[in-house]
Amino acid sequence: MRLQSISSNLKNPAKIALISVHGDPAIEIGAEEAGGQNVYVRQVGEALANLGWQVDMFTRRSTPQQADIVQLSPGCRTIRLTAGPTDFVSRDQIFGYLPQFVDQFLAFQTQERTQYALVHTNYWLSSWVGMELKKHQPLAQVHTYHSLGVVKYANVPNIPDIATTRLTIEKQCLETADCIVATSPQEQAHMRSQVSKLGHIQVIPCGTDIERYGATSRADARQKLGIPLNAKVVFYIGRFDPRKGIETLVRAVAQSQFRADGLHLIIGGGSRPGAKDGQERDRIEGIVQNLGLVDITQFPGRISNEDLPLYYAAADVSVVPSHYEPFGLVTIESMASHTPVVASDVGGLQFTILPNETGLLVPAKDDVGFAQAIDQILADPQLKEQWGIAARQRVETMFSWQGVAQQLSQLYQHIIQ
Ligand code: UDP
Repeated sequence: MRLQSISSNLKNPAKIALISVHGDPAIEIGAEEAGGQNVYVRQVGEALANLGWQVDMFTRRSTPQQADIVQLSPGCRTIRLTAGPTDFVSRDQIFGYLPQFVDQFLAFQTQERTQYALVHTNYWLSSWVGMELKKHQPLAQVHTYHSLGVVKYANVPNIPDIATTRLTIEKQCLETADCIVATSPQEQAHMRSQVSKLGHIQVIPCGTDIERYGATSRADARQKLGIPLNAKVVFYIGRFDPRKGIETLVRAVAQSQFRADGLHLIIGGGSRPGAKDGQERDRIEGIVQNLGLVDITQFPGRISNEDLPLYYAAADVSVVPSHYEPFGLVTIESMASHTPVVASDVGGLQFTILPNETGLLVPAKDDVGFAQAIDQILADPQLKEQWGIAARQRVETMFSWQGVAQQLSQLYQHIIQ
């Protein structure tokens, strides 16, 4: 669809704002607190721009050096607003700076002589910004939670002080937004059973780049990464956060029948030394050491956009051992790369993975179950091949960014009209 065709259908110019206060779509992924949300906002923004929308993505400046505006692609910009210190601020500490973010957003509109007709907000912090902006101008709000407080807090030992505020705002947003985008039917069910029966929800999944992932063969990828062809590669990629359950994976590998038979564990992700997520990395490295897995474990750190497709392609199995996952982008990235996934039987992972067709689901934290599931795939290269093909097909059919953006585009048009 071209810009003209959208514009001619709309009363307002096809200009929209995506708001992602704490997930800057223009920064490197894999660093502290930068993960799925940053990828989602950027990919959705660029794919919508390809469909003809003018997309401005608003985020909070987190270093003084960052550019105010980054043109990511034609029709798609990241705009950084100053709200609080120009430094990294943990998401649990940002709420108090949001009124400043709202003021800056309004000032930007005045400066650009524009007014957005629709905002798509991401995570509860941005949902508050969207609800505040609605007090100042006619504005439609679409919202994606990325994580629901009520589900998250049931899975963590320490509940932060901000929890009550978050839960109140998440409920208010569900009940008042023009549409909530749930990224899986499981997330939708959580919203209905644990947040509110009111409000409009539509399921539109996350997507992935089906051209970037899946273009390299296993053999080529292994050659480029220096991994022997006969190694049995188990791969994790993601943030170092206790909720990701990396400990379960490590304990599972320690019990694998292939532990001393060519198994190679790669645990990718993590940010600079001294960062907050370093604590979890140190803890995981300690467990690797205690279990005597140092020789077969590799911690490559943050993996760049260019290298990540190689790692997925080189792996025999990817593991997503999260305690809770509203969607889990890494799952579909692996599946797009023809690599089956063993994951926790929770949330969006129950949606993306078809057990015994594209991978296996295991109860969260069950390291014995994870060991058995990983071994089932490592023991049978033909099964890996077959599930890898089915996984790729599933992603092509259901989870390409283009398809996701088309569904969002239709939703926006419907709401704006
Ligand atoms: N990621 C990356 N490099 C890294 C670590 C993570 O590119 O070193 C990306 C990963 O490919 C995925 C995202 O970060 O696109 C993580 O998203 P997911 O939904 O799996 O987890 P979240 O971070 O949202 O909890």
